[in-house]
Amino acid sequence: MPVELRAPVRLAEAFPDLVQPMKEALDEGGERNLAASVDELQVYALCGCGDDFCGSFYTRDPANRQTRTIGLSRPPLAPFAVGVTDGGAIAFVEVIDADQQTWAEFKQRYTALLRGASAGHE
Ligand SMILES: [Zn+2]
Repeated sequence: MPVELRAPVRLAEAFPDLVQPMKEALDEGGERNLAASVDELQVYALCGCGDDFCGSFYTRDPANRQTRTIGLSRPPLAPFAVGVTDGGAIAFVEVIDADQQTWAEFKQRYTALLRGASAGHE
């Protein structure tokens, strides 16, 4: 079940380390429009599975259906994937692994956001 944030947070603010590798990987994969959208992405919800190895989050209302998944790889973020809606918007990002320091920082931010969001639901 997705855990929605009380208010969407800009991706660049929530997970700054992800922005550049995401843009470069999408650009390299010929996904110019998606690459251009990364700066404007907002984090709406986090995956609530609670798995230590899970770094998935939603960049649209989780109700949006994803019709395409693109697997990407770009150090220090590798591999990762984005789910795209029919309308061609990135709706979901799955961070699968990264170098140790990037992953540690990412998970710290992720957990802090998750705690904040869960506290809002109690
Ligand atoms: Zn998960």
